Amino acid sequence: MAHTKVFAGARVVLPTGIVDDGRVIVEGTRIAGSAPEHAEVVDVRGHWLVPGFVDLHNHGGGGASFSGTADEVQKAIRAHRLHGTTTLVASTVTDDMDFLVQQAGLLSELAEQGDIAGIHFEGPFISPCRKGAHSEELLRDPDPAEVRKLIDAARGRAKMVTLATELPGGIESVRLLAEHGVIAAVGHTDATYEQTVEAIDAGATVATHLFNAMPTLGHRSPGPVAALLEDERVTVELINDGTHLHPAALELAFRHAGAGRVALITDAMDAAGIGDGRYMLGPLEVEVSEGVARLVHGGSIAGSTLTLDRAFKRAVTVDRLPVEDVVAALCANPARLLGMADQVGSLEPGRFADLVLLDENFDLKGVMRHGDWVVAPQLS
Ligand SMILES: [Zn+2]
Repeated sequence: MAHTKVFAGARVVLPTGIVDDGRVIVEGTRIAGSAPEHAEVVDVRGHWLVPGFVDLHNHGGGGASFSGTADEVQKAIRAHRLHGTTTLVASTVTDDMDFLVQQAGLLSELAEQGDIAGIHFEGPFISPCRKGAHSEELLRDPDPAEVRKLIDAARGRAKMVTLATELPGGIESVRLLAEHGVIAAVGHTDATYEQTVEAIDAGATVATHLFNAMPTLGHRSPGPVAALLEDERVTVELINDGTHLHPAALELAFRHAGAGRVALITDAMDAAGIGDGRYMLGPLEVEVSEGVARLVHGGSIAGSTLTLDRAFKRAVTVDRLPVEDVVAALCANPARLLGMADQVGSLEPGRFADLVLLDENFDLKGVMRHGDWVVAPQLS
């Protein structure tokens, strides 16, 4: 019989709110509803207990990327697990189609094994005007046949494609993605407000890092930001590293979309969990200095070095958002988007025992995935 552990005394964040002196029961790999009489009790008073984080958009970490070999991909997964991310979608960047098809095959095997939750293709179907850290010469219009090629190569594991929906073939591609149950995400886009509304009506449901790599909110041309924020069908990704967004922009998104429609992501690259130095983002060279990643040529911000534990702490302590809203944006919302809400993203019975233990300062003290410690807490 599976060994049962009862974590008692923590402030537990549940979908219904915060429970002081709450408890979470872990039996084997899952969260249980009740414990046998003599189950082991672990005292976690003075801590927060929240679900493991779910990252929708992540290119790598620990010195390795999701565009690398299987070993490198495992290294990147590990780097983020150490920071509380127990479920993640591996993101590629713009590259040539043959490479992306091949990488989709590799990543689909890791998804099959349960190491990643699926694949996010960011590019190549994005706007040259908003290319950010993507290779301009490899960008192309979103041809539905090519979109289909990527989905097929991912063998049922494609979760999301970021595209500039205003480009020729964009709306047809959104429809194709929606029909195949793949999230169409509006991003790296130069669309107008009206064009963005059209994309949402065609089935787009995510805003790829809202505000970044898209036109700013203007009073005569509200652009994609207004269209994505106002529509109930859309979840907006936000990178809360203090570099990509001003705290007021983050707060505006949380207020306007509501906590149920925000997903905090990392958009992390190789340097996450490591530090400054020279790295590659797909085919492009990146310099990381004081935690900020920029292209060596051109200076565009090139992903982040963020981990979700830092995004959590910042959201609560700097941005002063309610803990339960931040947990929704880090766990339940992305889990729901991925169709995994019955498996991850909350501390309800039946879900995987994916837990993050934080101290009263919101510093990470423990990480459990599927009932095993990734980071074992030092409990007194
Ligand atoms: Zn990205």
